[in-house]
Amino acid sequence: TPVLQLKGIHKKFPSVHALKGVDFTLRAGEIHALLGENGAGKSTLIKVMTGVYQRDGGDILLDGTPIFPNNTGDAQALGISTVYQEVNLLPNLTVAHNIYLGREPRRFGLINWSKVNRDAAELLKGYDLDIDVTQPLSRYSIAVQQLIAIARGVDMSAKVLILDEPTASLDADEVQSLFRIMRDLRSKGIGIVFVTHFLDQVYAVCDRITILRSAELVGEFEAATLSRPELIGHMLG
Ligand code: ADP
Ligand code: MG
Ligand code: MG
Repeated sequence: TPVLQLKGIHKKFPSVHALKGVDFTLRAGEIHALLGENGAGKSTLIKVMTGVYQRDGGDILLDGTPIFPNNTGDAQALGISTVYQEVNLLPNLTVAHNIYLGREPRRFGLINWSKVNRDAAELLKGYDLDIDVTQPLSRYSIAVQQLIAIARGVDMSAKVLILDEPTASLDADEVQSLFRIMRDLRSKGIGIVFVTHFLDQVYAVCDRITILRSAELVGEFEAATLSRPELIGHMLG
């Protein structure tokens, strides 16, 4: 079964019917692009998945079981994590502490700092970021802080990770680091929803593509078999 399945989702705002019966299927261990023109309904669909908005119709199934997240905390507890443009970390604490914030390993009741530092360094080693985990987070750029926030997701029990335009503030090297993190998560069986406006990024890292247009589903496609002109044609209609 797919890890996350949305069926016939409706969302109405007072002035606009933003989702008109949209389906979306995310498999475990895939990177799935969610594409569409500005205003197509991408962010609304993501906010329905993550409990920010309540749906006006349709079903959400996680591992085949209907779920009704009322807020992002509910969604997170179920295993649906979102990384926002704004970083939700504490800049004055060390990088390592931020990674294990709220779930610090302890020994005899005390935080085991050497383990925090060792585990954090190990976690970030694969990403080629050149980070000293014992330094305050504020020492690093917002872009690097965002990558650290995503890396934190690797070590948590997320089943689904949602990235809504995560590359806006990243330079080319940082985008490559993000892709390494995404591929690592994919290899651990996490399903990733990736919203971006950059088609090069879609073809670089995505397995499947769902396209929305004017609040409706156009279709779901294999990235490997969908040409760029076809993709653009689906988006524009
Ligand atoms: P996308 O992310 O694809 O650019 P959105 O999901 O943000 O599209 O928007 C889809 C439609 O819903 C747009 O017409 C937008 O104006 C409208 N919309 C989004 N959020 C709200 C809201 N909170 N209140 C009213 N209308 C909204
Ligand atoms: Mg938009
Ligand atoms: Mg959006």
